[in-house]
Amino acid sequence: MQTLSHSLSQNAPEIAAEIMQRLQELARHTEQPGMMTRTYLTPAHTAAAAQIGAWMQEAGMHVRRDAVGNVIGHYAACSSINNEAQPAPILMTGSHFDTVRNGGVYDGLLGIVLPISCVAAWHKAGVRFPFAIEIVAFSEEEGVRFKAPMLGSRAIAGTFRHSVLEHTDEHGISMQDAMRAAGFDPTTIDASAAKRGSIAAFIEVHIEQGPVLLNAGLPLGVVTAISGATRFMLELQGTAGHAGTVPMTMRHDAAMAAAEFALFVERRCSTVAGLVGTIGQWQVPNGATNVIPGKAILSLDVRAEDDAVRLAAIADLEQELAAICSRRGIRSMLSKTYETSSATCAPWLKRGWRHALQRHEQPTLELPSGAGHDSMAIADIAPIAMLFVRCGNGGISHHPDEILDAADADMAARVFMDFVTHFQIPNPTNP
Ligand SMILES: [Zn+2]
Repeated sequence: MQTLSHSLSQNAPEIAAEIMQRLQELARHTEQPGMMTRTYLTPAHTAAAAQIGAWMQEAGMHVRRDAVGNVIGHYAACSSINNEAQPAPILMTGSHFDTVRNGGVYDGLLGIVLPISCVAAWHKAGVRFPFAIEIVAFSEEEGVRFKAPMLGSRAIAGTFRHSVLEHTDEHGISMQDAMRAAGFDPTTIDASAAKRGSIAAFIEVHIEQGPVLLNAGLPLGVVTAISGATRFMLELQGTAGHAGTVPMTMRHDAAMAAAEFALFVERRCSTVAGLVGTIGQWQVPNGATNVIPGKAILSLDVRAEDDAVRLAAIADLEQELAAICSRRGIRSMLSKTYETSSATCAPWLKRGWRHALQRHEQPTLELPSGAGHDSMAIADIAPIAMLFVRCGNGGISHHPDEILDAADADMAARVFMDFVTHFQIPNPTNP
């Protein structure tokens, strides 16, 4: 198998050219001409799904769509395994084919298109494995249209929350109506859940969406964990007043309390590697040049690879917020809007990536994923691991300037093929 893998990976430049070309082809399916926007169950989304399904079929896969619109390609295991009464274990891979508004063409899509091209090469060479390969093009990850992320991967993980079916888009169309209009039956979503124990592992290839690999001069990196996150909205209530008449010592300026708190967030979240804190939204409602801000509304997003690190930081932030507000005579209301724990990548799968990188003389850089990914949802039912591919342009993503180098796609395809070729399900007694 090693020799075969080696000889097949010689085809990687052609594979990479196909991957790059297909990514551009998929970019044509957009809701907004000139921009990459493809949200759940729009005509552009349906067209992209059809194209992905056609490529899967061409690659020798059996293709199906489930009730949430995931496109699933199944590449059967070698016949000796298939003939047994037990279905072959599944090595699942994939990523999402929806995008943010005016996003990039590589986010999510690389993790679908790359494995399809690799499977096509195995199919052409008549290679089968002692496990089935399933590529899932997850229909929804970004949560743009219905403000509910990871619909596709949650359906497969069996953690789809049915309450989101009532969510409406900006035109007032509910998710369940959109599903029915696109030919899906929302009452059968639970049937999308993978059978417990059927997925031996889930691996996801994804662009890094950050600058770490770029700065390290490396095309690929192994993800350690997908960071857990907590989000809050913070309302600070001070006292508005005339900007000219109220002395500095008598003010209860809500925006200044926000500023002091924000600088503390930056300081505290700089103390531990992998911990990040962001205040992305700032508002001074009804603010005016000559009025002392009476109110400030902020968002706060804290993430870390290690849940204990995140929770400790949040406890410190809350304590400091209380101290700032009491000193300044400000009332604060901090409400948690979202929280998710981190998902750790399985050591044996990380080892698999590391060995594949070593066989291609690539140094191994391990890094956490600050962004959420489909892997996070699948972690509920299977061991997961992710391979990050370098982004150019300073690592920018969710933006039209998102870029990927063809040489990096080439190396990613080689390492992916090598990983799969050497993939072995560990003995449960000796993981
Ligand atoms: Zn993504």
